[in-house]
Amino acid sequence: MRRVLRVILGLILAVVLGLWIYGQRGGRINRQDISDPVQSVEVSPVPEETPEPTPEPTPEPTPEPTEEPVMFDVSSWEYMLVNADHSIEQYEPEQLAYINIIADDTEIRTEFDPNRQVVDIRIAQPLLDMAMACKEAGLPIYLSSGYRSYETQAENFRRVCANNGVSDGKDAAGYYITMPAGCSEHQTGLCCDITDRYYPVKDSSIENTETFKWLKEHCAEYGFILRFPHDKADITGVMYEPFHFRYVGVEAAQYMTENNLCLEEFVEMFDQQ
Ligand SMILES: [Zn+2]
Repeated sequence: MRRVLRVILGLILAVVLGLWIYGQRGGRINRQDISDPVQSVEVSPVPEETPEPTPEPTPEPTPEPTEEPVMFDVSSWEYMLVNADHSIEQYEPEQLAYINIIADDTEIRTEFDPNRQVVDIRIAQPLLDMAMACKEAGLPIYLSSGYRSYETQAENFRRVCANNGVSDGKDAAGYYITMPAGCSEHQTGLCCDITDRYYPVKDSSIENTETFKWLKEHCAEYGFILRFPHDKADITGVMYEPFHFRYVGVEAAQYMTENNLCLEEFVEMFDQQ
């Protein structure tokens, strides 16, 4: 019986001792934590976390009248993209218009007239306005080439290739000097080659004429862009043509001019398909 009591007492003692040792260890750990040098450094500057004030329900911000993001519907006719990768096959403009080649009269005729320049009727007025303004600025203007049919372009292509001893319409640098039928922008009727009346040369030297300088500066005001600029030849695939002006509308022309975009870049930017 005593032995049993002793064993029980012994067990109780062992448990008490065990608890005491456990308590001592825990205390030590706590003290170490407090005296940890890293901890003590942190203590002073960091303010104690104050209880977050319950956030006041903020009223819904009334929508500010923000500027509308610039958007263009590139499926619209003004942006019709034609190049070596985008053939328009046998496309023909619905209505052609015939205007004076040297901006001598303001008539827009719809009956065929081989002595006038022919374009899609939708660009006849802005083209005429630009030509008249250029002439009024004292500069001789000449509307050299507007709409060309698929067949005319096919003939053009053959002739230019033969004259240059090539078969693919490209120059030595690999840029198009003439487009295969279906791939020429002239078939849209939305562009016009424009030169100085007394310098009707269609090569890069035309950029030195005052007529070209005026057109380059003012064309966007009338909705036109210089379609094949020197610095975009790698994108357009066409050699520098400081005479080929393309109608895209005033807003788009100004946007493209301000952002230095050619039509390929512009269409890609706003293409939502
Ligand atoms: Zn042209």
